[in-house]
Amino acid sequence: MQLAVRTQTSPSVDGKKPPYVIAKDLVKYYPVPGLGHRTVKSVDGVSLTIGEGEVLGLVGESGCGKSTIARLMTRLTHATNGELTIGEHDILHMEGEALRRMRRVVQLIFQDPYSALDPRMRIGQSMETPLEQHRIGTRDERNALVYQMLEEVGLDASFYDRYPSQCSGGQLQRVVIGRALLLKPSFLVCDEPTSALDASMRTQILNLLMDLKRRHGLTILMISHDLRVVRYLCDRIAVMYLGRIVEIADRDELFRAPKHPYTKALIASSMLDETGLHAPEMLLDGDLPSPLNPPDGCKFHTRCKYATERCSASEPEFSTVADEHLVRCHHWRDLG
Ligand code: SF4
Repeated sequence: MQLAVRTQTSPSVDGKKPPYVIAKDLVKYYPVPGLGHRTVKSVDGVSLTIGEGEVLGLVGESGCGKSTIARLMTRLTHATNGELTIGEHDILHMEGEALRRMRRVVQLIFQDPYSALDPRMRIGQSMETPLEQHRIGTRDERNALVYQMLEEVGLDASFYDRYPSQCSGGQLQRVVIGRALLLKPSFLVCDEPTSALDASMRTQILNLLMDLKRRHGLTILMISHDLRVVRYLCDRIAVMYLGRIVEIADRDELFRAPKHPYTKALIASSMLDETGLHAPEMLLDGDLPSPLNPPDGCKFHTRCKYATERCSASEPEFSTVADEHLVRCHHWRDLG
């Protein structure tokens, strides 16, 4: 499989820095108890790169494998196959102390801040625990770092002694982001970080993330089912369908000239959410097929209005639409 974009691996080739994150043919199959050798093909050969300081958006419907990518990138689950490097680290083969150190560099922000925090622990204690686990600073220094971080994420000192039940969802997400940043990561994986929040909180948290990204020079993978979120934040966007990337492009290029029928449908439904206006023929029919039994050929052919015999017989490889714009569709040139 062709690596998505920005694949230069040596700065000497063209003077550019190599990508900070390189995933190549990542595969994650989950065995299904009681079904013999059958597996859920959650991630099925994903290649992508993220430049240092870049924000890459990863979008797709629930169940397409986005969260599994987050878990692979943070080593919360083992890959079935493939390669993954973050900075200098060969993530998939790290063990012991090296893996523990790597966990400081790569931090995950979950969707639900309520479940990310222990309800019996005060906020300050929850934020200090990872510092303690990584043996950072003395007790007084850790304490000072937490107060400093509370301020940085827009919370006053009184939050140190509060319990999660005394905070709103938006405040808790600020705590979770601050707790992650205390470890001074260089790569943040955000898995639907605002989907549990209401609209006004959502914008505040997204603005906070962008502000922190600029201040700390973070590289970010922003996972969302909501195209408005990735449009707001991301430099490039990858669209995922049933375990595969089907299109990847610069943010503006993707919205100006989407090529994959699935991307077009996602954009049409996000416009429907925003404006109430839509082109009905662009919207998606049916549900995502089961990753336990994905269709042959193009994975999207069971829902695609333009599917031909070729589509159900053979899976398209990536085609280059323009610089850094790739699409996986046999007929993209004919679809306008
Ligand atoms: Fe649709 Fe065929 Fe393109 Fe797949 S390859 S997206 S089925 S037109």
